[in-house]
Amino acid sequence: MTDNVITLPGGNGELPDNPLRLAARPAGFCQHDQVMVDEHERTLYCANPKCGAALDPFNFIRGQAKTLAMAWERYRFVTAEARDVAERVSVLKKEEARLRAQVKRLQEKSGGLVNTRGQV
Ligand SMILES: [Zn+2]
Repeated sequence: MTDNVITLPGGNGELPDNPLRLAARPAGFCQHDQVMVDEHERTLYCANPKCGAALDPFNFIRGQAKTLAMAWERYRFVTAEARDVAERVSVLKKEEARLRAQVKRLQEKSGGLVNTRGQV
């Protein structure tokens, strides 16, 4: 061995044990649809007994804010679309009434039946 070689911790070139470990996650994917608010601990937990994950309060509120913003936007869109459809239906009903009156006038004027379906 030369003096230029630095020996890493662990001595013989092997890595020491990793001091950090990840806790095993429960199998499956949970969307944390139900949340338990622990006022005493000031924490949020997933209320699903199979999950029970501790939730980051900021991420939870951010997710709720995004969900509400999307719901508001969809509500505005659907309301505007419903208003537009109602206006079109109103115009079509007026046009239908106008055409029915016109057919009636033509029937009375001709003194007989008027074929409105284009059939012979
Ligand atoms: Zn969960």
